[in-house]
Amino acid sequence: MTTPPLLQVEDLRVAYGKIEAVKGISFSVEAGQVVTLIGTNGAGKTTTLRTLSGLLKPLAGKITFDGAPLTGVPAHKIVERGLAHSPEGRRLFPRLTIAENLKLGAFLRKDTAGIEADIRRVYELFPILGERSRQASGTLSGGEQQMLAMGRALMSRPKLLMLDEPSMGLSPIMMQKIMDTIRELRNQGTTILLVEQNAQAALSLADHGHVMETGTVVLSGTGQELLHDESVRKAYLGED
Ligand code: ATP
Repeated sequence: MTTPPLLQVEDLRVAYGKIEAVKGISFSVEAGQVVTLIGTNGAGKTTTLRTLSGLLKPLAGKITFDGAPLTGVPAHKIVERGLAHSPEGRRLFPRLTIAENLKLGAFLRKDTAGIEADIRRVYELFPILGERSRQASGTLSGGEQQMLAMGRALMSRPKLLMLDEPSMGLSPIMMQKIMDTIRELRNQGTTILLVEQNAQAALSLADHGHVMETGTVVLSGTGQELLHDESVRKAYLGED
């Protein structure tokens, strides 16, 4: 018997008023995998993540997570079910310290010892956050804020971690650090759905990828297949 995927999205459609941003997409994420959605600006990637985390209501389609439907479930219940979202633009609480932001990521948990252990784990992943734990998050660099956003999402001990554009605005070195961390999290068993503009970086570490264009999935394959696909290379990897 094969295990069903952790996340299954079937024929999902999402609209803002009359504008349909996601026009019937289907994909799945198996436990333990990194799956990436790549595509041009406005393709519907962020809309897809926001719908999965309950912030937007789909027009139609079916979302199944960990064996039960997710459609119509309110956002806070979705976090409780094990789906965490590190949003585009980070959305941290700028006046709160690093440590306070991390604790907020664990707001549904009551196991104080476990929370402390997970904060230490985040500091092991990102030592700079540990060194600056009392610093207000609004004063962190873009890369450090991105690390904190990922750390905060991890604090809910998610079954699935959704990362929206974690490399946005980062220097090449910082971007490499974030990508290395995603790989490390995968090696530790975290399942990840990654939305990225940087197709090269995302496909290099993804088990599976889906290329989105104007609300539809136009191509799917393993990370390696897409990385070597001629149309992907031309459109997203800057080759002639
Ligand atoms: P990017 O990489 O630029 O973030 P994306 O693939 O994540 O792009 P979305 O942000 O999901 O794309 O946007 C998909 C489409 O929906 C775009 O045409 C966008 O203009 C539109 N859209 C997004 N948010 C809203 C909104 N709040 N109201 C109306 N239209 C929106």
